Amino acid sequence: KRFEDLNLKQELLQGLYAMGFTKPSKIQETALPNLLSNPPQNLIAQSQSGTGKTAAFSLAMLSRIDTNLLYPQALCLAPTMELAAQITDVVRQMGQYMKNLKIASAIRGNMVPRNVELKEQVIIGTPGTVFDWSSPRINAFSLKKLRVFVLDEADVMIDQQGHQDICIRIVRGLPKDCQIMLFSATYKNPVIEFAKKIVGNPIIIRL
Ligand code: AMP
Repeated sequence: KRFEDLNLKQELLQGLYAMGFTKPSKIQETALPNLLSNPPQNLIAQSQSGTGKTAAFSLAMLSRIDTNLLYPQALCLAPTMELAAQITDVVRQMGQYMKNLKIASAIRGNMVPRNVELKEQVIIGTPGTVFDWSSPRINAFSLKKLRVFVLDEADVMIDQQGHQDICIRIVRGLPKDCQIMLFSATYKNPVIEFAKKIVGNPIIIRL
C-alpha cells in the first residue's frame, strides 16, 4: 500500500513527505483504512513504540477535524508530559500544511482562562489537566463536541494511580458518535478489560 491510496487529504500527504515518510508502516496501512472510513470505526491496537502508531493516530485525528471551526474536536491523552510533548511534535509536523490548525498542550503548568472556549482544534495532554480543563470549574472546552479521542499507552495509564478513573470519566463525557482509539504496548487481561470498558465495537489490531 501507498499513502496515496489511503484517501488522505492533500495537506496531510504533503506533511508526510516533509517528514520523509514514503510508505506506510504495518500499523498505518492496517489501521488507517478503518480509521478513515465512513462511519469511522473504533480501534484497540496492540502496538509498541517504534511501529509508527503516533503517525497513525495523528493522521486519523487530523483527518477528522475541521480547521474552519475554532474549538476542540480531537483529544489525545498520554500518561506523561514527555510523551504528550512528543505527540504534539508529530501532530504539528504532520499538520504543517493545514491552514488554521491549532494545537493545545494540556499539561500541568499550562494555564487557561476560565469560561473561555479554547480555539485549538486538537488537544494533547495528560488526563488530570485535560479533565480539569473540561470541568465546570475551568470550562475551557466541551467533551461533547469532540469527534475523535485517542488514548495512548493505555497499559502505562492503568498502572498509574488515578489515571484509569480519570480516563473513564473523560470517556463517559464523550458524545456517542465520537471515534475512540486505544493503543497499548501489551495485551494482558487488565489492559483488555480496561480497553473493552471504554471502546465500543472496536476493530482489534495486534502486531
Ligand atoms: P512511534 O511508533 O510512533 O514511536 O514511531 C516510531 C518512529 O518511526 C518515529 O521516529 C517516526 O518518525 C517513524 N515513522 C513512523 N511512521 C513512519 C513511516 N511511515 N515511514 C518512516 N518512518 C516512520
